[in-house]
Amino acid sequence: METELVWLRGELRLADNPLLDIAPSVSERLVVFVIDEALLDGTSADGVAGIGARRLRFLWQCLKELRGTLLKKGSDLLVAVDEPVSLVARLAEQYQVTRVVASEAAGGDDQLERLARCLPRQCRLERRGTGTLWTSQTLPMTLDEVPASWSAFRRRLGEASPRSHSRPAPATQPAWPERAPRGLPSLQRLSREADALNDVPDSAGLAFVGGEAPAWQRLDDVVWESDLLATYQQTRNGLIGAGFSSRLSPWLALGCVSATQVLEALREWEDRRGANASSRHFYHELLWREYFHWVARQEGKALFGDPPSSPGQAFECWRLGATGQPLIDAAMRELSVSGWLSNRARQLVASYLVHDLGEDWRHGAAWFERCLIDHDVANNWGNWKYIAGVGRNAKPRIFDIDEQSRRYDPDERYVRHWKEVSLQPSSYEALGH
Ligand SMILES: Cc1cc2nc3c(=O)[nH]c(=O)nc-3n(C[C@H](O)[C@H](O)[C@H](O)COP(=O)(O)OP(=O)(O)OC[C@H]3O[C@@H](n4cnc5c(N)ncnc54)[C@H](O)[C@@H]3O)c2cc1C
Repeated sequence: METELVWLRGELRLADNPLLDIAPSVSERLVVFVIDEALLDGTSADGVAGIGARRLRFLWQCLKELRGTLLKKGSDLLVAVDEPVSLVARLAEQYQVTRVVASEAAGGDDQLERLARCLPRQCRLERRGTGTLWTSQTLPMTLDEVPASWSAFRRRLGEASPRSHSRPAPATQPAWPERAPRGLPSLQRLSREADALNDVPDSAGLAFVGGEAPAWQRLDDVVWESDLLATYQQTRNGLIGAGFSSRLSPWLALGCVSATQVLEALREWEDRRGANASSRHFYHELLWREYFHWVARQEGKALFGDPPSSPGQAFECWRLGATGQPLIDAAMRELSVSGWLSNRARQLVASYLVHDLGEDWRHGAAWFERCLIDHDVANNWGNWKYIAGVGRNAKPRIFDIDEQSRRYDPDERYVRHWKEVSLQPSSYEALGH
């Protein structure tokens, strides 16, 4: 009988999770999530800008909830702060693990390449495709054939439909190896910023709580309670409120719910209510996600571009919400306070940083990576490149901020709302004041 180690780097759910499939030969299993210590200290080994308070808090909530679910199934979860690859290799050695199972990551996968080189001889590494609607086996094109633009990608998919039936949660899980470490550190221990311990103010529109159950609660609200799929096309460009878009992104990014589960709910709604322009538009958003994920796999490390030179003063003003452009400052305050932004606001602040302030898009992407509770490597870096007009999408997306303010915030409700919300002292510390 074998001992397996599942290395979670996302996919923080039990249902529809191929990483938690159980091979008949497996009798014991470690389920491990490693928080990169460099990330907590401010920058990761890749020079990426750490993890902000809101993002850390949401991640911790997801891990805590998953641990509870795994315990009920006879397993457990180990959450450790360490250098991820060395810890996984050490655990594999110590507990005579014969197989490490991990998901394929977007944007080059240094970690798995390094791990493959340092695992003990008896242990093999198995990569499983997770998180996307298609897998490398079912996508109707090879990775090399993924086209440059989203429209061409969609045309290439044609009428092909991805799997829209999710798999139920397994009834049990293999036993935890005796004497193996388990559990997760408290949020107090992890957090370098007081904001991680505070509730997000009500002003933020929706209190995001991490975990599989809250994800299902939100999916249910969006699809069945609020009927968003009937109106999404008209409301999706909103800036303020909890209901103009699904706000499922944090749970999708951490894998508390899979894209397939969201698609399944969408198809069920369409079966009962009939497909319409709004529900089709929502499906297209899932295809944008799909597009950026396959592009990120195709581009590998090139997704991140070359390391930029130091940011200028204009970048500092931008991230602190002190540019003097009211809509941009409101959005940057919202990002700091809540860890989330609407798609419209993301497009506008990205365009403003790159095309009005002339700063390098990579600084903006790194700041988003630090702050966003829904940070998703493929979606974040892909969208930044798209707005900046670098790489495969050589056409810059330039927004006229004054015109956009008049169109999407005509009565300045959004600007006034975020002007009135004061940043907590700890937020100021986090922002480097
Ligand atoms: C500069 C910039 C950075 C971004 N960074 C991220 C990020 O780190 N993580 C992230 O999940 N999204 C990112 N996005 C995409 C998009 O803004 C968010 O997915 C969306 O605003 C989340 O809100 P929602 O869940 O209510 O989306 P909805 O409008 O309800 O859409 C449903 C889902 O479709 C997907 N989706 C929608 N729009 C996009 C898009 N443009 N690209 C890719 N997927 C999309 C998301 O998974 C989203 O949850 C970024 C966009 C920009 C312009």
